[in-house]
Amino acid sequence: MRRDRRSNSQAPESDYTADIGIECHIQLKTASKLFCSCSNDSRQEDPNTTVCPVCLGLPGTLPVLNKRAVELAMQAGIALNARVAEHTKFDRKNYFYPDLPKGYQITQYDQPIIGAGEVAVPLENDSFSVRIVRAHMEEDAGKLVHPESADYSLVDLNRAGTPLLEIVSQPDMHSPAQAKAYARELYYRMLYVGASDVDLYHGNMRFDLNVSVRPSGSDRFGTRTEIKNMNSFRNVERAADYEIGRQIQLLENGQLVTQETRGWDEQKTYLMREKEEAEDYRYFPEPDIPPLELDRSKREQVEQELPPLLTHVRHTLRATGLEQTKIEALINQPRLAMLGLSVLEEITDPASRDRIVNWLTSEVVRLLRAEDFDWDDFALSVGQLGELSDMTADDELNSSAAKQVLGEMVTSPRSPRQIAEEKQLIQTSDAGEIESIVDQVIQNNPQAAQDVRDGKSKAIGFLTGEVMKASQGQTNPQIVKDLLEHKLNQ
Ligand SMILES: [Zn+2]
Repeated sequence: MRRDRRSNSQAPESDYTADIGIECHIQLKTASKLFCSCSNDSRQEDPNTTVCPVCLGLPGTLPVLNKRAVELAMQAGIALNARVAEHTKFDRKNYFYPDLPKGYQITQYDQPIIGAGEVAVPLENDSFSVRIVRAHMEEDAGKLVHPESADYSLVDLNRAGTPLLEIVSQPDMHSPAQAKAYARELYYRMLYVGASDVDLYHGNMRFDLNVSVRPSGSDRFGTRTEIKNMNSFRNVERAADYEIGRQIQLLENGQLVTQETRGWDEQKTYLMREKEEAEDYRYFPEPDIPPLELDRSKREQVEQELPPLLTHVRHTLRATGLEQTKIEALINQPRLAMLGLSVLEEITDPASRDRIVNWLTSEVVRLLRAEDFDWDDFALSVGQLGELSDMTADDELNSSAAKQVLGEMVTSPRSPRQIAEEKQLIQTSDAGEIESIVDQVIQNNPQAAQDVRDGKSKAIGFLTGEVMKASQGQTNPQIVKDLLEHKLNQ
């Protein structure tokens, strides 16, 4: 198996195979909560303000299922290449906790909305496959807040009733890098299909890992531990790495791995609780929500409304022969990927297409990474890019001038010619004019000219710079250099 960093173990890791499964919770992108009309976005709100009798679980209230949440869950299932159930229902999971005012959570037990599926995950220049067990809908609980040095806790129920989809995978990942790649793949699939905002910082997407190790060659899984609540791809990778090393070390020391739930403190996993007896949640069908029949017409309607799926975008980009690393650079920014698709469709000249794709995957990606970049300002269009490419091909702009214009175009819908003219970047290709400037510069710098004749190559750079200065940058440095060499070496 492939191992990344190894800090806490000297064990012969190739003797072991790791098995990692991931449970991922995503918050569905609805306007209101799963069973009431309270706002589903309380990021800017004061505690306990986006609540109502339904999500507070007051007696006598009735939940009403959010239709949009069901549609988004179906879309997510299609994006996971998984089967959407024809019959699905909700169940009560009974337990007591202060952030759960009803005393039960409405979830799905034996008839989840999404059944088995399979996701192909790209990794470096290869890919591997992860099987999806199921995905089910449920409501989120509230949040407990523990004020520092206080001897009490506070309950904020803004999050109670938020619609979640829990996506459960088989333990098909065998290295920390694979775990991270799968988490990232889920993120982009959900982002493209629009099922969730997948805002990791605000907990829109959370990962629980199941990790076990077994002697390589054995077909019996080892005892697994569960690591709760990772909120970044990097933490998924690091927690898996740490936990695999910890378990191998235990086995090497002749100890046993205990089945338990662990936390992650950004450095190491730590024991949260040992697995109690199989918890009895006394699941039973939710009596206040009738079972759902998702017939063919309903599913066809959802399919028709689907935006382009990540798999489609990736497939189309790949069909053009674009390198894997460039494809992934585009995919990281969905709007850039969509622009890339349009470029590939509309720009037919191969040289121009390559030039534009190069800009998109290097210069533009770099500009979009700027901290203060705001996607609301993104203005780049295929028309602009085509014109800029033509100006470059016609030597009206050298490559650094083209990049300057491109930098402006990212947030401005103006034409590249307008921008280039304003910045006086258009270079003169009038041979006579360039030649007279070159002659003048040679005449004014006899020593440098002699150095070039004597074969001192540094001097040519100096003279080229002088010509560029004299022409205010509006000549092509390569043409100038060629001309200087020609004149001084004849
Ligand atoms: Zn409510």
